[in-house]
Amino acid sequence: MKQFFTPALLEWNQNENSRSMPWKGEKDPYRIWLSEIILQQTRVEQGWAYYENFIQAYPTVKDLAAAPEEAVFRLWQGLGYYARCKNMLAAARQIVDQFHGHFPNTYDAIQSLKGVGPYTAAAIASFAFNLPHAVLDGNVFRVLSRYFDIDTPIDSTTGKKQFTALAQELLPHAQSAAYNQSIMDFGAVICKPQQPACSICPLSKKCKALQLNLVGLLPVKTKKLVIKKRYFYYLVLQYKDNIYIRKRTENDIWQNLHEFILIETPQPADIPTLQAMPVFKSTFVDMSYNINGTSAAFKQQLTHQTIYSQFIFMSVTKQPEMPGYIAVPRTQLDGFAFPKTITDFLKKRELSLF
Ligand code: SF4
Repeated sequence: MKQFFTPALLEWNQNENSRSMPWKGEKDPYRIWLSEIILQQTRVEQGWAYYENFIQAYPTVKDLAAAPEEAVFRLWQGLGYYARCKNMLAAARQIVDQFHGHFPNTYDAIQSLKGVGPYTAAAIASFAFNLPHAVLDGNVFRVLSRYFDIDTPIDSTTGKKQFTALAQELLPHAQSAAYNQSIMDFGAVICKPQQPACSICPLSKKCKALQLNLVGLLPVKTKKLVIKKRYFYYLVLQYKDNIYIRKRTENDIWQNLHEFILIETPQPADIPTLQAMPVFKSTFVDMSYNINGTSAAFKQQLTHQTIYSQFIFMSVTKQPEMPGYIAVPRTQLDGFAFPKTITDFLKKRELSLF
């Protein structure tokens, strides 16, 4: 089985793999790293344009390291998981400071970069330097668990160890880049999560899951994803032509992005309920305000959370004291990086109210 697996996979890659991506075959570690960071938690179709924009704006790691944080965040806007962006910038600066601007060329040094885990380190080490490190991502887990009929949960420590050892054993050391690319592409286009193409699969005659009719049951995971619902009410406070915004600094989603005044509730709430909340009262203490209307509801789906947002248009006639907030002219709001839900709102904003 093992002897058949690797040659069959490489042959499929050579003769049949037509999956194209802008960074495929790339040998520049900076570009490989950028594509891998962008692709974590992001679909290829969505990440493609971002990758090209980043390469155009910052052709080298030194350019990226020298870029102002706000500009990098704005380019990242819409990709989500902003911790990735923050780590990416930190890693670029680490490469300039610790490695004199040269991308590190050993697995351990690559893994020492901020935001780079075992998978990304193996991808860069093999694709850029042809070092013998097997990648292990969702595609690889799926292909191996099905072909070898392994039901150890892939999110358990035992499972990770078992799959890592197997992936490393299957890796042909002289062809690590081609092999890693093959197995990831194979998982994406043939051994897909839903409706894998078993009828045309070059591994089918030896695939244990197919023989035992277990394809739909593998791979196994222990944890079920629990999705939390959060309700965000944004107070879009206007004084003259200015709107009040702040940068999110808490250890929560959307760190370093900007937002309006936020009131979060565990359930949907109406305006009188919001006005009765201590956080609302303390924001508007001794301040008379008008509520001019509300927006439609917006929904943003994250991996572990669903965010329901609504925007409430408010105005004051006296300059408010808003510690931690900055007053920004309405026409200049587009110069700040916001979460997708606020960007969507700004695109659709009802100009008569706001
Ligand atoms: S036969 Fe089906 S389940 Fe088995 S490796 Fe091929 S595509 Fe995956």
